[in-house]
Amino acid sequence: MSEPTSNWSLDTERTPMITPSEVLEHVYCPRFTWFMNVQNIPQHEEMRFKVQKGREVHRRRATENRDYLRRKIGAVKREVEVYLASPVLRLRGIVDEVLWLKDGNMAPLDYKYTESRETVFKTHETQIILYAMLIQEIYQQPVTRGYVAYIRDGSQLLEVPVTTAAITATGKLIAQIFDIIQTGRLPARTSSRLRCEDCCYKNICV
Ligand code: SF4
Repeated sequence: MSEPTSNWSLDTERTPMITPSEVLEHVYCPRFTWFMNVQNIPQHEEMRFKVQKGREVHRRRATENRDYLRRKIGAVKREVEVYLASPVLRLRGIVDEVLWLKDGNMAPLDYKYTESRETVFKTHETQIILYAMLIQEIYQQPVTRGYVAYIRDGSQLLEVPVTTAAITATGKLIAQIFDIIQTGRLPARTSSRLRCEDCCYKNICV
């Protein structure tokens, strides 16, 4: 992992921190990190905001009165829409729910306004691991699993194991992002050229 520069301190006001969305964008293509965080060229924010706002209204309605889901998980306490920030992890984000479980573990629960499915999307899995890392770090409690609820057409609850291997792999992604930010080095293109076709940076990405 790259060392912080000398003017950084472990302080939530001053330590640069990235969000789960930025990690997912980096996974999609590492050059997103470079364009956004080194060149400061944002994506089409206005468009993204409209889409997100529309989804958010649906999502809020769909996540109300989901006590049976929490009971199924074995939650004894919860906090909703929790802002989590860790200067140690250099990570911040808002998780839909932080749960305290009967067995002494804590767990993140995230709702997705998406149709039911058999397995968790890889991106959602990564998000859960990031929230799990934050919960572990902030509450100093064990987190061995997290949950994603696909709620568009009912409520499909899926478990995500939070393993040491997953935490290590996700920690490496955060380190890669800060390495790009600190060195300004242009990363390799995504290996999937299909992704370039719809990319907002395609005209300036050489
Ligand atoms: S055009 Fe392709 S390589 Fe360049 S940023 Fe977009 S997805 Fe990545």
